[in-house]
Amino acid sequence: MDVTPELTRQVLDWHAWLDAHPEPAWRETGTTAYLVEQLARLGVSATEVEGRPGAVAELGDGPRWVAVRADLDAIWTGDDADGHAVHSCGHSAHMAVVLGVAALLVGERLPDGVGVRFLLQPAEETGEGALDLLERGALEGVTDLFGLHVRPVEELAAGELAPALHSGASLTGLVTFTGEDAHGARPHLGRNAVDPVVALHQVLPTLRFNPAESYSAKITRVRAGGASLNVIPGTAEVALDLRAQRNAVIAELRERVDEAVVRIAATYGVQVQVHWHGGTPGAEVHPEAAATLARAIREVAGEEALREEIVTTGADDFHHYAVARPGLRSAMLAVGVGLTPGLHVPTMTYDTAPLPTAAAVLARALLLAAGRA
Ligand SMILES: [Zn+2]
Ligand SMILES: [Zn+2]
Repeated sequence: MDVTPELTRQVLDWHAWLDAHPEPAWRETGTTAYLVEQLARLGVSATEVEGRPGAVAELGDGPRWVAVRADLDAIWTGDDADGHAVHSCGHSAHMAVVLGVAALLVGERLPDGVGVRFLLQPAEETGEGALDLLERGALEGVTDLFGLHVRPVEELAAGELAPALHSGASLTGLVTFTGEDAHGARPHLGRNAVDPVVALHQVLPTLRFNPAESYSAKITRVRAGGASLNVIPGTAEVALDLRAQRNAVIAELRERVDEAVVRIAATYGVQVQVHWHGGTPGAEVHPEAAATLARAIREVAGEEALREEIVTTGADDFHHYAVARPGLRSAMLAVGVGLTPGLHVPTMTYDTAPLPTAAAVLARALLLAAGRA
């Protein structure tokens, strides 16, 4: 898996185009068309997902598949109406690297019965794209799956690579307390919905778990009351953001919040409804997949580039794949690109020089996984 000047030129060209054409979640149609076109040029045919952005490409026939996933979406800055998208999560780099993987593998002989599948996945940022591809059967026959993510400079310097990313789990939801509006002069005739909001704010930090676990539950929005300042609100809506490093902990945290809001509602004599929006599970890193990536890093970039597996509170919907398909050998390659000042910051920049090497590492890892007896 040599990083030739030709590969470097291709990967940097692809990156330049993709980075200059950012599209947010579920609107990645131009991005999909470009990826399909570039794959076709390499001799890899891709099938676009019907009625949605995204595509699946294959090399070989299977029936066993080793796979690599690229995420396609950019991030909105500002709101839907007047904002614009920017690739501030580095997904333009991920796509360029995965095209590089295709370029490297086109000429390789794969073992009989094993093919390489490329998952070009939309809507990572909304936590929906992986679930959509799963529903459409894109993981059928896949035994090994690799992803990648560029990392902030605090985690990895440019050129450093880590064989796994242990992302945390996240969950957001809306809690609605419903009582009855009251005249400001007659609070005893209504059922105040602000009181339970304040109670919930007090209760969240008392939902305690083993201090060795990393977790948090925060209120991220409160809405109550209207234009009239002399009406005591009978309805209030609270948005919650839950985090935990482990999937078992976030599941329990969610249960404890469910129980707490019911108790609070009973105390204040209001109704309560909780609507969990979804979120992303924490990483279920398969040790064999991480070992394969570590070996590929050593072989392609040398021992000096290899760093330890990274634990991060950040989330990625890549981990839906492993949760949905227990036993899937999956891990994300962490790529050091000297990224500053941070992911999701519109002014974020990074060094593209390490990207061709990342492509060679993933191509090597896929061949290693394909060759497994
Ligand atoms: Zn992101
Ligand atoms: Zn991302």
